[in-house]
Amino acid sequence: CGIVGYVGPRPSQDILLAGLARLEYRGYDSAGVAVIDGDGSLGMRKKAGKLAVLRDSLADAPLPDGSTGIGHTRWATHGGPTDVNAHPHLADDDKLALIHNGIIENFSALREELLADGVVFRSETDTEVAAALLGREYAGNGGDLELAFRSVVNRLEGAFTLLAMHQDHPGLVVGARRNSPLVIGLGEGENFLGSDVAAFIEHTRKALAIGQDQIVSITPDAVTVVDFAGTPVQPEPFDVSWDA
Ligand code: GLU
Repeated sequence: CGIVGYVGPRPSQDILLAGLARLEYRGYDSAGVAVIDGDGSLGMRKKAGKLAVLRDSLADAPLPDGSTGIGHTRWATHGGPTDVNAHPHLADDDKLALIHNGIIENFSALREELLADGVVFRSETDTEVAAALLGREYAGNGGDLELAFRSVVNRLEGAFTLLAMHQDHPGLVVGARRNSPLVIGLGEGENFLGSDVAAFIEHTRKALAIGQDQIVSITPDAVTVVDFAGTPVQPEPFDVSWDA
């Protein structure tokens, strides 16, 4: 299972697919990508099976070019390996996309709460609960994605790497980690997130570590990290020295 995120000037789809291919060694049963294009509309494709299945589907019916994107390979834990259960999961009228590696242990209580609130779920995953929660927070706070994200991670128990983006905020990907890996790759006018450096090694060898229980926001020109209380954190640089 693997996670890649990109913001910058280039079309993100091929960067995401190449990053996911580099993370294939981690194992997976499904794959998906979402991108936000210059007009601020979100496109998403996800497929059970190997990356080749996703690639073929994208070749048959391309998504619009989008220079903000997230990509995911899934190792199913909650819900079988189907197209619907694959990530990304959408919320806020399909304007928001979220991907997740790990397990949200309290998903069933959160699911009940959201069902009572009228949320309709499409998948059987623990992840869609986090997506729906984020959509509800975002809509309720006047559209602050980072604030909504912080509120959501504080309600989740278990292990997670999460990335999310919203079509009303092209050029922004927000991520968080608890008991699950996530690193930042620093480019020139572009930035990356990945489960490990393999996800972006073709593009940069400048990386920043994200600590336990921290949240990161990347834009093409900036990276900010805070803890789950919102206090700024200085991420630790490390040089990627191994040959890829
Ligand atoms: N628990 C999530 C699911 O089953 C994520 C699994 C993963 O780490 O890929 O969809």
